[in-house]
Amino acid sequence: APAIRIDGARKVYGTGSTRMVALHDVELDIPAGRFVSVIGPSGCGKSTLLRLIANLEATDAGSVEVFGESPAAACDGKHIGFVPQTPALLPWLNVLHNVTLPHRVNRRASRKRKAGASAARPMPDMEQLLRDVGLGDAMHKLPPELSGGMQQRVAIVRALGLQPDVLLMDEPFSALDEFTRESLQGQLLDLWDHTTATVVFVTHSVTEAVRLSDQVVVMAPRPGRIV
Ligand code: ADP
Ligand code: ADP
Repeated sequence: APAIRIDGARKVYGTGSTRMVALHDVELDIPAGRFVSVIGPSGCGKSTLLRLIANLEATDAGSVEVFGESPAAACDGKHIGFVPQTPALLPWLNVLHNVTLPHRVNRRASRKRKAGASAARPMPDMEQLLRDVGLGDAMHKLPPELSGGMQQRVAIVRALGLQPDVLLMDEPFSALDEFTRESLQGQLLDLWDHTTATVVFVTHSVTEAVRLSDQVVVMAPRPGRIV
């Protein structure tokens, strides 16, 4: 079975004059371990597609399955990493505290679960992961003290540190200058080599999609759909 199966998915926002079909009849199977890019112009539903997989939105028709389960059930048993467009770090926690937070939250959640629930995974060496992306000297700094590129690297380490089964990335490099972007693309691929995660990477850059992924899904707007 594929890691992600999207079958006839439809998503509508708003009603009446504000009604907008964000996704129309989307079919997509993503095998486990694949690195898929999703490209298309602004407004074609790329973020919505990611948010359906991440259980941040629900479909209006059709279905989304992650490892054969609903996204809600999958979020309970599997690790889903999400790198949003803006890094969304907690500004009052230093870098090391930010990247270890998902692990600490998960550990607490799995302690509360009944017997039979999957155990929390051991946390990898987050200090080493931070050093790997050039943040060795920034571990004890607060996010507002860091550049945009550094903050984006923190968000990526935070997601990778979960050892996610599925890694969802929403234009993670789009706000960065060309030089920082190229460097981070390389670092992502290096880190990627050490994981078995299935990646869905949203971008509006054809170059980036071709460079990073082994499959490219192209979308078009009005209504948002795969072409
Ligand atoms: P993309 O990521 O490709 O830019 P989105 O998934 O963000 O596309 O948006 C698809 C369409 O749905 C756009 O027309 C957008 O304006 C609309 N949309 C997205 N989120 C919402 C929302 N929460 N409420 C209303 N409309 C939305
Ligand atoms: P601990 O759990 O070890 O007490 P905290 O989670 O309180 O650490 O803080 C983590 C990091 O964030 C530390 O570097 C601390 O100095 C910094 N920090 C915590 N709260 C604030 C705040 N309100 N303003 C600025 N920095 C803060």
